[in-house]
Amino acid sequence: MKKGLPVADRKTVWRETADLTRREKKVVAAAIALHVVAAVAGLGGPFLIGRIVDAVSKGAGASDVDKMALAVGACVLVQVLVSRQAQYLGHRFGERANARLREDFVARTLALPVSAVERAGTGDLATRSSVDVATVGNTVRTVVPTLLISAIQLLLIFGAVIVMDPPLGLVALAGVPTTAAVARWYLRRASPAYLMEGETASELTEALTTTAEGGRTVEALRLADERVAHGTEKIGRQWQARRRTLALRSVFFPIVEAGYALPAAAMLLAGGFFMRHGLSLGVVVSATLYVQQAIDPLDRVMIWLEQAQRGLASFARVLGVGMVPPEPRGEVPASNQRELIVRGARFAYGDGHDVLHGIDLAVRPGERLAIVGPSGAGKSTLARLLAGIDAPREGVVTLGGLAVTKIDPAERRRRIALVTQEHHVFMGSLRDNLAFAAPGATDDDMLDALVAVGADWYGDLPDGLDTELGDGVRTLGPADAQQLALARLVLADPHTLILDEATAALDPTTARRTERALAAVLEGRTVIAIAHRLNTAHDADRVAVLEGGRVSELGSHDDLVRAGGAYASLWRSWHG
Ligand code: ADP
Repeated sequence: MKKGLPVADRKTVWRETADLTRREKKVVAAAIALHVVAAVAGLGGPFLIGRIVDAVSKGAGASDVDKMALAVGACVLVQVLVSRQAQYLGHRFGERANARLREDFVARTLALPVSAVERAGTGDLATRSSVDVATVGNTVRTVVPTLLISAIQLLLIFGAVIVMDPPLGLVALAGVPTTAAVARWYLRRASPAYLMEGETASELTEALTTTAEGGRTVEALRLADERVAHGTEKIGRQWQARRRTLALRSVFFPIVEAGYALPAAAMLLAGGFFMRHGLSLGVVVSATLYVQQAIDPLDRVMIWLEQAQRGLASFARVLGVGMVPPEPRGEVPASNQRELIVRGARFAYGDGHDVLHGIDLAVRPGERLAIVGPSGAGKSTLARLLAGIDAPREGVVTLGGLAVTKIDPAERRRRIALVTQEHHVFMGSLRDNLAFAAPGATDDDMLDALVAVGADWYGDLPDGLDTELGDGVRTLGPADAQQLALARLVLADPHTLILDEATAALDPTTARRTERALAAVLEGRTVIAIAHRLNTAHDADRVAVLEGGRVSELGSHDDLVRAGGAYASLWRSWHG
């Protein structure tokens, strides 16, 4: 069972929410002020209608009524115009906050240590960055402004009834405790229920993506039934979680609906009673209209509170991404320290058995070391240890006397580069694609790097370094993509390169082109090459033969051939 990424607690969520609001203090304050003005204007209508009723029942003339009717119209106009402006400000706050959230999320995601994502599963991160980020975005863009407006309107409406006639005000508020109790009941349960819904959605995505990604393996090992069962189980969990939230909603909303109808009836009833004790008809009309007017914002609060709950749950998951402790900042070895030493290194994947059984190896600065051996011997694993991606279970790998895994990650990558067959071309310009290897590189540096690796396709690009690359825009062929990767290496300028079958998957013509480019890159650096083709071993200063997780032979090509061991027979069979 994979352990998902962390989820922020309630306190953190509120703190971040407050922080987000504080950063847009002025806009929020202006929006609130305008909403208050609009809501006060909204109160004018019912109030004046009550006055009209009273005036008419006292036998007032038509001109007085006309004036008051005009005033009703003016109130409506003011309300419309001011609330439009207020909504504009509210949404502006929402959009800005949303943009900031997304930027923060990208930053948090990029800062995640790779190991944390591997542990949690990419599905979890994928769900958080799609579903949860969208939910939070929707919440700050629409839910928060709407809730804000509604809350202001409700406060003023009930306030107005109380001011007009306190006893009637109490009647108007009679429904509030029930509604509040139900809302409390609902909100208490809704938050964990929606968190569960999000979690099961992550698990489902994770289950489906791993099955899809491992499609070939699933077919080859006939795991289809097992994977289908796994997926079905996850769908079941999601179904249950959704049923739970649906059940909550189906209790909550009917009660709330009823809560709207009753107050108006109660107002008329109580109003009739109070009128016998001297209350004017106009006040009863106004108060009843107010209570009717409250339904709309009340309804919105109820609907959007639910959305806000979802938003908070999603926000907790979005913030959780930032709670993974960053890779520790490590030590920095002196730049002239280049000696890479492996001592007594043992390594096992997870809780499995050891795949490296005590490796001792000293790589001299500037030397070319080839590592050969049968498939599964542990060559790639050794490469990962040398690059500091994994730490040995026992023993140590040191660069200039410091354990490589303790070296500051950025610094380590600047010194030791692991070159594999994976070469990603990022969406963006050629310049962007080169710049992240060396942020300070000038255009000339970039052009020099492209020339060094023989990337002659550069001349065909319509906009030079500004040409947009990436799938669907301008797809680079495998050899070109590899040259791009090599140009990045030239720019990054590490003193040690570990080549893990960098050219193994390419067709021979492409491989030759790439090898020529590679030769330019290797110049003057320490090179550890995991060799598929033995001519790489032949050209190396020394060859290490890895068999069953142990170094069985170590020496120059000539020495090993003369010694007549495993390498010699490999060489003979390969050489024909
Ligand atoms: P080579 O590069 O020489 O082919 P590897 O270093 O890839 O060998 O693999 C050495 C051993 O470790 C093999 O038995 C392989 O099955 C195992 N292994 C490699 N990668 C993993 C992994 N990610 N998880 C578990 N076992 C692994």
